[in-house]
Amino acid sequence: MNTAAPTMELDRPAARPAQLVDPFARAITYLRVSVTDRCDFRCVYCMSEHMSFLPKADLLTLEELDRLCSAFVAKGVRKLRMTGGEPLVRRGIMTLFRSLSRHLKSGALDELTVTTNGSQLVKYAAELRDCGVERINVSLDTLDPDKFRSITRWGELDKVIAGIDAAQAAGLKIKINAVALKGVNEDELAGLVSWAHGRGMDLTIIEVMPLGDIGDDRLGQYLPLSMVRARLSERFTMQDIDHRTGGPARYVRIAETGGRLGFITPMTHNFCESCNRVRITCTGTLYMCLGQEDAADLRAPLRSSESDEPLYAAIDAAIAHKPKGHDFVIDRRHKRPALSRHMSVTGG
Ligand code: SAM
Ligand code: SF4
Repeated sequence: MNTAAPTMELDRPAARPAQLVDPFARAITYLRVSVTDRCDFRCVYCMSEHMSFLPKADLLTLEELDRLCSAFVAKGVRKLRMTGGEPLVRRGIMTLFRSLSRHLKSGALDELTVTTNGSQLVKYAAELRDCGVERINVSLDTLDPDKFRSITRWGELDKVIAGIDAAQAAGLKIKINAVALKGVNEDELAGLVSWAHGRGMDLTIIEVMPLGDIGDDRLGQYLPLSMVRARLSERFTMQDIDHRTGGPARYVRIAETGGRLGFITPMTHNFCESCNRVRITCTGTLYMCLGQEDAADLRAPLRSSESDEPLYAAIDAAIAHKPKGHDFVIDRRHKRPALSRHMSVTGG
C-alpha cells in the first residue's frame, strides 16, 4: 500500500483564474476586441462623414491589448476577434496578431480572427495566415464600384476585391458580411449570394442596427431581413441548418449553390439566450452586451499593477453584471439611435 503523503499539491497545475460564467449560466468564451476607433472608410450606416476620434494617447498600447486579451484567454475565452474601426489600419497591428498566436500554439485558444473592410488585405493576408488566422470576415455590401464608393464614402471596390483575392491565395477562408440597405443594395443581394458562394465564401446579411448618430435618418436605411429572406426565397431554395455560433446569425444552406447564408436580425429576433461573447474597446472599456450601455473600465485595473489579479477581479465583477439581453428600437418618433455609441466603438 502506498503510504506516501498525498501529492495533490505537487501534482496540481499552477492555479488558473476562475472561468467566466454570467448570472444566466452563459459561459463567456468569445471576446471581440476593437483595436482602434479609426477607419479608412466612412460607411454611411456606421459613421458620420466628419467623425472625431479618440486622442491616440487614450488608446491601450498593443502590449496592453495583448495583456488584456491574454487575461481573458486565461479565464477561458477560446475565440478572439480583432475588429474596430478598421483593425488593419492600426499601426503595428501585426505584432499583436503575432504575439497572440502563442495562445493558438499552446492550445489555450481555438481561434484568432479579424473582421475587416478588406482595404489592407493585399498587404497583410499572408502574414495573418502565418499568425495562425484561418478564417476572416470581410465586410462588403455591393459589387458596384460607384455604389461602393457612395456607401463607404472613401473606399475603393478594386482594392477590396484585390484583398479578397490575396486572402484566398494565402489560404484564408472568408465570410462576407453585407448590411442590407433599403433602396441601396436590396436588388443586389441575390447577386451577392451567387458571387460569394461561387468563390467558396459564406455570406451573412446584416440588418441595420441603430447605433450612434450618423447624421442621417436610420428609418430610411432600415430593411427588415424578413423581406430580404422572402425575396431571396423566390430565387433560391433555402434549407434550414443547425449551424450555430452562439451569436445572432441564423444560417441556411442554399441548395442551388451549396453555400451557407446567414441572417443577423437584431431588430426582429432575439438571440440573447445563447450569447457567449463580450466586447472590449480600444480604451479598455468592457461592454457586456452590444445593445446595452452597461460597461466596465478595465484600463485602470490593467495599469494599476503588474499583477493580473486586479484585472481578473474587475473582469469577474463585470461578467456578474452581464445583462440578460437587449431590445433595440429605432425610435420612430424621434429618429434617435437606441444607443449613442457608434458601431466602430465596439466593432459590431
Ligand atoms: N471595419 C471593419 C469592417 O467594416 O468589417 C470592422 C468594424 S465594422 C464596425 C464591423 C461590422 O459592423 C461590419 O460588417 C459593418 O458592416 C457592421 N456595421 C457597422 N455599422 C452597422 C450598423 N449600424 N448596423 C449594422 N451593422 C453595422
Ligand atoms: Fe469603417 Fe467598418 Fe465602420 Fe465601414 S463599417 S466605417 S469599414 S468601421
